[in-house]
Amino acid sequence: MALTTGHKTIDVDGKILHIPEGINYSCAGCGRCCNGVAVPMTQDDYERVSAIDWSKELPQFDWSRQFRMLSAKENDSSTYTHAIRPTDDGHCPFLINKLCHIHATRGEHVKPLICGLFPYSFNNTPSGVYLTVSFRSNAVLSNVGTPLTEQIDTLKEKFAVYNTLYTARSVIWDAVKLTVDKPITWEQYLDYEKGILEALIREDLSLKEKIFTASDSLFKDLNKPAMPDTIAPPKGLDKKFLAGLFALYFPNDPKYLNKDVVFNGISFALDLVLKAPKFKVVNRSYTFEELNNFPWPEANSKDASGSSSKEIAEAKEIDDLLTRFLYSRVFGKWYFGGGFAQLSVIAGFHHLALLMPLMRMHAAGLAIARGASKVEMIDVMVTVRQLEEKVQEAVLDGYSAALWELILFAPGRLRRLLSASI
Ligand code: SF4
Repeated sequence: MALTTGHKTIDVDGKILHIPEGINYSCAGCGRCCNGVAVPMTQDDYERVSAIDWSKELPQFDWSRQFRMLSAKENDSSTYTHAIRPTDDGHCPFLINKLCHIHATRGEHVKPLICGLFPYSFNNTPSGVYLTVSFRSNAVLSNVGTPLTEQIDTLKEKFAVYNTLYTARSVIWDAVKLTVDKPITWEQYLDYEKGILEALIREDLSLKEKIFTASDSLFKDLNKPAMPDTIAPPKGLDKKFLAGLFALYFPNDPKYLNKDVVFNGISFALDLVLKAPKFKVVNRSYTFEELNNFPWPEANSKDASGSSSKEIAEAKEIDDLLTRFLYSRVFGKWYFGGGFAQLSVIAGFHHLALLMPLMRMHAAGLAIARGASKVEMIDVMVTVRQLEEKVQEAVLDGYSAALWELILFAPGRLRRLLSASI
C-alpha cells in the first residue's frame, strides 16, 4: 500500500491511536539498531540488568564502567536514570554476533524497556497518539515487513511499554503557531498538516516540487513574501546556514556521534558571519557546489538519459525513502512545537525540508570517500540513519530558536537551496 493522507485509527484503553498507511516494518534481525546509541535505562532496567554478573560470559568488556548514571540535565523530564555505554566501535556491549546477549540468555523481559519499544515511536497530541517508526532501523529504511496497519496486537503491546516509559513526559502542544506571530488552534493545525501530506503523496511531482507545494499550502492565509519568477542560486547566508546545520547533524569528529545536538545561538550566529561555508565528510572538506555537483541518480526518466533502468529504479527507491522520511516526520508531528524544539509550523517544515539538501550532500561525501562514481542507495541509507538519530536529539537554546524562526520563514531561501541541490 502506498502512502495516503488517510490512516487507520484504533482505540487503545480509551486513547485514540493513529496508524499511518504505507509504512511497513518487521525486525530483520540485522542488529543494526543496537549500534550508535547509548541505550537509556530506567532505574528498574538498571537494577535488573546490572544485578547480573556479565564478566564471565562477556569478559571482553570492563563491566565496572559499562553502565553510567545520567546527569540531571540528561534525565530531565524523562524516566531514564542510567545508560549502557557503547563499545569503542559504537555498538551496545550486549550485541554479540548480531544478537542481543541479554535476550538470548535471559529472555526478552530482562532487556531495557526501550529495546522492546524500538523502533516504534508514539507522539501524544491533543487529537490522539500518532505512531511512526524510527529510520534508524534497516527494515524501516527499506520499508520491508508487515504494514503497521496490520500489527494491531503488537502495537497495543508497544503502546503499553510506551506508557510505562513516558508517563512523566510533558509534551507541550498548547501554544502552536503557524509562524512566530500567528497562533493557531489544533484543529487549524490539522488542516495545514493535511495540505502538507496531500502534497507529499502526489505521484506527479518530484520531491522538490512536493516540498514547494507543501510550503505554499502553509502560506494560504498569510501574505507570502514576493517570489521572483526565476529561482536564484543560493546566497552566502543560505549556504552558511546549511553548513552550520551540517556540522551539527553530521559531526566529523566521532566523539560527537553519541552526543546530543545542542545549538548555541550566539556561536552559531558568529559562525554564520565569520566562517566560510564548508561541509566536512570523512575528514575532507567540500564546498556546497562540490557536493551538489557530484552525480546523483535521476528518477525522472526524461532527465535520466544515460542512466540504466537499474539506476532509474534506484533513484525512485531513494526518492521514495526521502518522501517516507518527510511524511513520517509530518504525520508523527515530530517537526514543530512539542515535536521539535517548539518551532512554529512554517519554520519547522522548512527545517525539515532543508534536511533534504543536507542528506544529499552527506551522501555525496560518503560516495566520494568510497571511490564511487555516483551516489547509491547505501550512501543515502547510512545518511538518513545518522540524521534520524541526531535530529531526534536536537535542542535549541532561546536565541537559536529566534534565529531559526527568522532564517527559516523565507520560502525564497528554501527554493534557492533545494533547487541547487535535490
Ligand atoms: S540490550 Fe540488547 S536489544 Fe538493547 S541495544 Fe543492547 S543488544 Fe540491542
